[in-house]
Amino acid sequence: FSGRSWEFEGFQTICPYCSVGCTIVLNTKNGSVRRVLSEDKLGINEGNLCVKGRFGHEFIHSPERITTPLIKKNGEFQAVRWEEAIGFVSETLGRIIEKHGSNTIGGIGSEKCTNEEDYLFQKFCRTVLRTNCIDNIANMRAPFLNSVLYKSVESGFAAAPLKEIENAGTLFFFGVDITEALPVIGCMARKAIKLNNANVVIANPRTIIFKNTAPNEARLNYSLGSQHILLNAIIKVIVEDKLVDIKKLESSASNLSDLRLAVENLSLIDVERLTGVSPEMIRNAAGLLAKPGNCCIVYGKDVIEDPLGADTIKTLLDLCTLIDISNRSEIHPGRVSLFCARYHNNSQGVNDMGVVPESLPGYLDINDASNKERIEELWGVKFSEDLLSKKPLNLIDAAKNGSIKSLYVMGADPVTEYPNGKEIRDSFKNMEFIVVQDSFMTETAKQADVIFPSATFAEKEGTYTSMGLITQRLNKAVSPVGESKADWKIICDVSEKMGHAFPYANVTEIVDEIKKAAPLYSSLSYDRLKRKEFHWPSSFPEKKESNTCTFFAIQGKFLKVNVEKEFPFIVMTGASLNHHGAYSAKSRALVSIAPECCVEINEKDAKDMQIKNGDMVMVESRVGKLKLRARVTKKSPPGIVFVPDAYADSPVNILISQAYTPVKIYTVSDLVLRLSQGE
Ligand code: SF4
Repeated sequence: FSGRSWEFEGFQTICPYCSVGCTIVLNTKNGSVRRVLSEDKLGINEGNLCVKGRFGHEFIHSPERITTPLIKKNGEFQAVRWEEAIGFVSETLGRIIEKHGSNTIGGIGSEKCTNEEDYLFQKFCRTVLRTNCIDNIANMRAPFLNSVLYKSVESGFAAAPLKEIENAGTLFFFGVDITEALPVIGCMARKAIKLNNANVVIANPRTIIFKNTAPNEARLNYSLGSQHILLNAIIKVIVEDKLVDIKKLESSASNLSDLRLAVENLSLIDVERLTGVSPEMIRNAAGLLAKPGNCCIVYGKDVIEDPLGADTIKTLLDLCTLIDISNRSEIHPGRVSLFCARYHNNSQGVNDMGVVPESLPGYLDINDASNKERIEELWGVKFSEDLLSKKPLNLIDAAKNGSIKSLYVMGADPVTEYPNGKEIRDSFKNMEFIVVQDSFMTETAKQADVIFPSATFAEKEGTYTSMGLITQRLNKAVSPVGESKADWKIICDVSEKMGHAFPYANVTEIVDEIKKAAPLYSSLSYDRLKRKEFHWPSSFPEKKESNTCTFFAIQGKFLKVNVEKEFPFIVMTGASLNHHGAYSAKSRALVSIAPECCVEINEKDAKDMQIKNGDMVMVESRVGKLKLRARVTKKSPPGIVFVPDAYADSPVNILISQAYTPVKIYTVSDLVLRLSQGE
């Protein structure tokens, strides 16, 4: 940056990367963002930022920004005026609706755009394009999550502020690399350890680097696919060893016998064989989790995207109920808090806003007549039977099998963010028409017929909702570069051209409508957000005090993860401390810190393959391959290789064909040898 401190103007806003939602202060000079600061008293992060929040702002003024609307003519993008692009899109979409009917256009909303933009996007799809084939990538990757998460909120366990982490007596990080994925939550955890002597339980197939001085720590390095049975084993120990007050439990829970039944035949020796975690470690973890006092549980991608994820999260709720019994102690009263680590800054908000096929904003069932009528009245429309009766499709599958003919994508990049990217790219080539709104030429944008240039977070107003269910306000710090516009304005322009003018002059007016549409957000005030964040739901359910707890009581399940002779490793993916998709890839400071994506290989496997730290290797699955530099490590266990999913230029999704995809690894010189042998 260049400038003296007095030359800068400060704009408080929210970090555009992960779902923690840290408050940052953009410092601008002469209309450009020069640096990012934070303040001790500001935001849930209290001045703490990770490297992405602190140094990842350069993408705002990147020379690679798309600055004008683009139309593909003869295979090449050409800059055009807004009127031409809007006119072309409106005319073509109208023609497609006429030719193929409604519901043949798919809409993919954004985990990175604001709530107001996502709200408007689903309204545009449902009322103007008359399609309910809408979704977002987070929901497509884990379609069960919204309903389970909603149950968690209703239970009272998932409605706590993120700050609770600092007050925890016990912390449980399950299937999430707290240091890489949620660095500022890692800071909060270390504060809890320092101030409260918090105990820590970390369950992850990899050895997570989390330096701490916790008096008691349990590390559960479980085998892939064994998350659910591991959790059941912990529950078994808590119940059978009477680590919580069983009398209280009997009087509080309506179906304790079901829970006992679900775990009674589980032998810890069998669990050790399946999970790789010893009975002693399971007992140790159960003891720590059952201790009275505040307990915070954070679960992440490795739980959410496991095929048994829905059962594991329900069983986490059972665990919360058990721990809650301990917290009814008069000597050590406490609270249990359950947090779902979402990936992007607004992965929560895009779902809250109804960019999913099964629900209207605020998780209102789209097939419920009273919800439908209320929204029809609010929007002044009448939904056709056809719109609502259609069974939700997986949009990517629908694109592949041709049941949707065109796509409207706002701020998402399914080609690099959804499994099997190469197949997605190929299927997009066969689509009749693709419109993309984005700030950069993403892999998905390259497949588009029209690209609208969209403003970044620093160039617009609006709100994001973080993983702590906190809605916070963005503040515009600089003007949009070139001719780019906020996504909500682009939607308004296209909609108006298609004969449905939306009546919003500014973001406040959209927020006012969201409050009416989504009861969860009914007491949100955009103006008040200047001073204080908003926490949904508007009123929290109180935890049930007696006789009302019901366990899901699911018998322990285990997924056998198989490798193949030709593909002897399983590839795991996850977050990176230094990168987070396309924006970080355009931020020079972050690129200089971490210039390339690496594949972590266990040192024993590396030795067997004669791969040295820093060698270039090919990671190949049945559906794709990626050339990466090897990082030889103890962090990943033998048989598992790890590739971050945060590097836009090395999208690991092109390797992924299923949960736990088998891969092979070979050095690039091996490849040369194979090619020379005509393999
Ligand atoms: Fe905070 Fe996440 Fe941004 Fe880092 S990336 S500063 S943890 S919001």
